[in-house]
Amino acid sequence: MASQEIEALSAVLSRLPGLGPRSARRAVLWLVKRRETALPQLLDALAAVRDTLVECDICGNIDTQNPCGICADPRRDQRQICVVEDVSDLWALDRARLFTGRYHVLGGRLSALEGVRPEDLAIGSLIERVRAGGIDEIVLAMNATLEGQTTAHYIAERLEDLPVRITQLAHGLPVGGELDYLDEGTLAQALRARRPLG
Ligand SMILES: [Zn+2]
Repeated sequence: MASQEIEALSAVLSRLPGLGPRSARRAVLWLVKRRETALPQLLDALAAVRDTLVECDICGNIDTQNPCGICADPRRDQRQICVVEDVSDLWALDRARLFTGRYHVLGGRLSALEGVRPEDLAIGSLIERVRAGGIDEIVLAMNATLEGQTTAHYIAERLEDLPVRITQLAHGLPVGGELDYLDEGTLAQALRARRPLG
């Protein structure tokens, strides 16, 4: 029987994306065996994340500053906003270094199955950003999944009456593909070939 402490840590770790109970327990054992070396490093890294990272009030990005480095960068095109589901998608797109505008993180995608409604996502704040003016183009960079596309169409509808061009990532996105997993070349191609959402 494992101790209560190990069970407790395993239970927390097993909730991480990609880790099940089995791999969580293996990770815990790995850490316990290295509690003099790797464990302190992990604790320090976790504390640094807790103490220094904040969510950007404008776009929802996670950074050490608020507004985030992207929103605060005067060289970025203020007239374009690229809308993504999650922060990981923002980072994936920004690694591709093709988009020079700013971002907006929804914090998920509409899902009837998981009970995610429009008010659960940062859609209202996106509309406010567009309403505030000075935005020419909204690039919808949802994942090429059914839920991602449903979300894209919902947002396009909500923005319909506002004076802004709405485009969407195009070719190169495999059906069912998640942005986060794509290589940078494919992402860059999808962004270059973006088209009006019709
Ligand atoms: Zn930001």
